Amino acid sequence: MRAMVFHGPGDLRAEELPVPTPGAGEVVLRIDAALTCGTDVKTLRRGHPVMIPRVPTVFGHELAGTVTALGRGVRGIRAGDRLVAANSAPCGECAACVAGRPNLCEDLLFVNGAYAEYIALPARLVARNVVRLGPDLPASRAAFAEPLACALLAVERARVDAGQSVVVLGHGPLGCLLAMVAAARKARVILVGKAGWRFDRVAALDIGECIDAAGSPDVVAEIRARTAGRGGDVTFDATGRPEVWEQAVDAVARGGTVVFFGGCAPGTSITVDTRRLHYEELALLGAFHHTPDTIRQAVDLMESGAVVPDGIVTHRMALGQVPDALALMSRGEALKVLITP
Ligand SMILES: [Zn+2]
Ligand SMILES: [Zn+2]
Repeated sequence: MRAMVFHGPGDLRAEELPVPTPGAGEVVLRIDAALTCGTDVKTLRRGHPVMIPRVPTVFGHELAGTVTALGRGVRGIRAGDRLVAANSAPCGECAACVAGRPNLCEDLLFVNGAYAEYIALPARLVARNVVRLGPDLPASRAAFAEPLACALLAVERARVDAGQSVVVLGHGPLGCLLAMVAAARKARVILVGKAGWRFDRVAALDIGECIDAAGSPDVVAEIRARTAGRGGDVTFDATGRPEVWEQAVDAVARGGTVVFFGGCAPGTSITVDTRRLHYEELALLGAFHHTPDTIRQAVDLMESGAVVPDGIVTHRMALGQVPDALALMSRGEALKVLITP
């Protein structure tokens, strides 16, 4: 089979590999759709010791496919089933898993290999973090389960509710997904981005009101003006930039919740006004990754039609064009690229 193999930073190769055969508890999928992710771009640039501890590894982690072969002992899955597989599986036994926070598992098993014709899913993933798809959910949409599950976890952390003002800072694919999930909960959504081709695409999706941060002298003042001077009940950073994390705090209302969703570079820090934090009872929360529950809920949201993320796909390409797709992403000329082997 053809596969795009990551050998280290800057080194992605098209290779011919044997079609995997499933070991005990494993499942082999024919990949029907894969999606590019901002994480891929970062990983290709500088590696990712957590998600890709060993190289070479087949690259890519957002996928949907059809079961072609099953190992011994697999229950509840049959050849021909269409599945979404998450890109990680928690151990189920550590303190975080026992406490019901498997996204913080001390032994999270990461799985890569979406940019190939086939993938063998390890037994732990098959047992804990795959979801069977109904006939009406196309693979190209189902492949959004992983990033959508991350957005769901963050929205869940903030307890976003109907009628709240929700501000999302950042108009990348995850900013869009956060906005879509908040809108599905009947919140009023304000999406802050920077003018340009990508922002125009996002504005056309009509998820919420849009503010151009580049064209506004004071984004926080603009957010406050649009929320009767209060600020957002919930603000999300989806940029991973410390100065925007601070804006997310500045733009939140009294009693509000800030969710730091975008990961910043190592060693960075932010300054917080202690007076506001105390007297205004601000809640500052991190949100990381997803859980088997949010993966399942993400599939449910797409199957019910409550979230239809298709508009975030700006390009479609073949497997051999993954390097071109990632180059487009890194130049800010694509939101997500759909890869079909
Ligand atoms: Zn991703
Ligand atoms: Zn664990």
